Amino acid sequence: MKEIKHLINGEFVGSASGKMFDDINPATGKLIAKVHEGGKVEIDAAVAAARAALTGPWGTMPMEQRMALLRKVAEGISARAEEFAQAESADNGMPISLARTAAVPRGSANFTQFAEHFKYVATETWEMDGALNYSLRRPLGVIGIISPWNFPLLLSTWKIAPALASGNTVVMKPSEETPMTAMLTAEVINEILPPGVFNVVQGLGGDSAGSALSEHPDVDGITFTGETTTGKTIMRAAADGLKKLSFELGGKNPNIVFADADLEEALTTTLRSSFANQGEVCLCGSRIYVQRPIFDQFVAGLVAKVKANVKVGDPSDPASTMGSLVSKEHFQRV
Ligand code: NAD
Repeated sequence: MKEIKHLINGEFVGSASGKMFDDINPATGKLIAKVHEGGKVEIDAAVAAARAALTGPWGTMPMEQRMALLRKVAEGISARAEEFAQAESADNGMPISLARTAAVPRGSANFTQFAEHFKYVATETWEMDGALNYSLRRPLGVIGIISPWNFPLLLSTWKIAPALASGNTVVMKPSEETPMTAMLTAEVINEILPPGVFNVVQGLGGDSAGSALSEHPDVDGITFTGETTTGKTIMRAAADGLKKLSFELGGKNPNIVFADADLEEALTTTLRSSFANQGEVCLCGSRIYVQRPIFDQFVAGLVAKVKANVKVGDPSDPASTMGSLVSKEHFQRV
């Protein structure tokens, strides 16, 4: 059975407690890996490694070299694209076609994009009588990343890449539902960056690795994507140390369609926004308001489009356009 470990200071290690949890393929119900369950001990070790790495070669590396390494990370993900896609689909239940065309290419592109972007982030100056004020952009320090299950690779790399591009070090706690691509990302990065720059602690959220990370006094910033209620808990935990926060939270987004809309365009967009990735997208149009004069026409059109385009099936089948929800619990909730 595959084991998923933590990456701490350049080494893949198990948990001090010896505890593990199951990683289930939601489409088949089968156990696909045992995951080492990290807690405070592993978060402490990972944060210490990340703190130390700030003053190692990473801390003095010229920007051009740092960006070259990040481009190598992108190449490393692309070189193993099919392995990443299979892992993402098995872990999350998303159709393999979506993993191949969106999750993995965008996961890789996040590294090239941010490696490019940060080259052009300007410093500023303001002149006053007798004084020149200026701002310099320096790394914040150790960044805690807490990421969700719905687009695991895409959403985590969206955080990892800018944090590293701007010279920080990272401790990441991926969702317990989808630990696989975080481990693969750790494998790729560990071959390229100095030890301690990027660490992953697998584990649960509250009263576990997630809360240990958000409460940690030596973490300078937290970037979190997930449920609004979890965001509130993290904000409270982070308040003590006045950590910088960056949040992307949940929603219940409405699509609003007026009678004078381009009907075909509105139907196509609604199909995508409501059903892509089984609707497990933060910007999913989960409520649809349609103006009365076109209501019946819209409903008939949407039903026809869904019948023609949404093929529910085994996520590993390239013909499926709707796979499995992420877990049985989530299925029951939906
Ligand atoms: P979640 O809040 O349950 O979990 C997200 C992460 O937080 C996981 O890693 C989890 O282990 C961790 N966590 C849970 N409790 C914690 C705690 N007390 N302290 C620290 N960490 C904790 O969210 P989820 O169900 O994994 O993700 C789906 C949610 O994310 C949906 O609400 C979706 O709308 C939202 N989302 C938003 C965006 C966006 O850009 N706004 C993008 C994707 C997903």
